[in-house]
Amino acid sequence: MKYRYVNCNICGEDKTIVLQDAGPLFKIVKCKNCGLVYVNPQPDEKELSRRYNQEYYSLSIANNNLRLNSWRRRLKKIERYKKGKKLLDVGCGSGIFLYIAKEHNWQVYGTEVSDYAIDYVKHKFAIDLFQGKLRQANFSDNFFDVVSFWHVLEHITDPLDNLVEARRILKPDGLLFIATPSINNYIYKILYMIFKLKRPKLFSNVNKEVHIYYFSEHTMKELLKEAGFEVIRFDIDRERIFTGERILDNFAWGLYQILRINFGLALEVYAKKR
Ligand SMILES: [Zn+2]
Repeated sequence: MKYRYVNCNICGEDKTIVLQDAGPLFKIVKCKNCGLVYVNPQPDEKELSRRYNQEYYSLSIANNNLRLNSWRRRLKKIERYKKGKKLLDVGCGSGIFLYIAKEHNWQVYGTEVSDYAIDYVKHKFAIDLFQGKLRQANFSDNFFDVVSFWHVLEHITDPLDNLVEARRILKPDGLLFIATPSINNYIYKILYMIFKLKRPKLFSNVNKEVHIYYFSEHTMKELLKEAGFEVIRFDIDRERIFTGERILDNFAWGLYQILRINFGLALEVYAKKR
């Protein structure tokens, strides 16, 4: 497997502290300058995309039919900010969000690196995707009303470059939407420590998903600023599969309404061009 040593994706500095050293793929560091938490050195992109095979998608595809209403609620939240025509979902995976958006009369576009997902979305939903990275798709300037990244930025090696490209292809009044796990999921961390009597790890080898980046509201705001966006609003992505997680997130959401401190499991970010 190939690895690449990288500087901080937000500020370009190389001053870090080690948060966790779980072997060659999973040394997790924090930038002393801007606070971004990331894996360094990082695996090669080819290696990463090889992981997104049938086995990876089997669980989410099995849940797709059960989660249609969950995805409809997610679309409705986006439509509160933007009712338009053209929507791009970057790294759209099994295509369920594009399917729901199409059902609600959006013209849908998607990019994906996984051979398996491309084939699945074509046959299941009759939607053709671009295979590759966002920049390679070479969409026109000022083309989209909405560009979404559903739990994608944490998986890719260059979030900043993807957001800069998203900015180029968004219309001047377009909406950027991001959902990503939150590193400040303190309620979960505290409950984990109470029940398991140890600190939760950022990454453990039982995790099926490899995350390269771990964002907070603060680092997400910095990343967006660097890419030329400003945040309209943060929220919590509360559409969890498991009941325990849903209860935890609803509690975090209640706290967020009062304290404006986001302890949810996953961030939602609504942003516009600066
Ligand atoms: Zn930094």
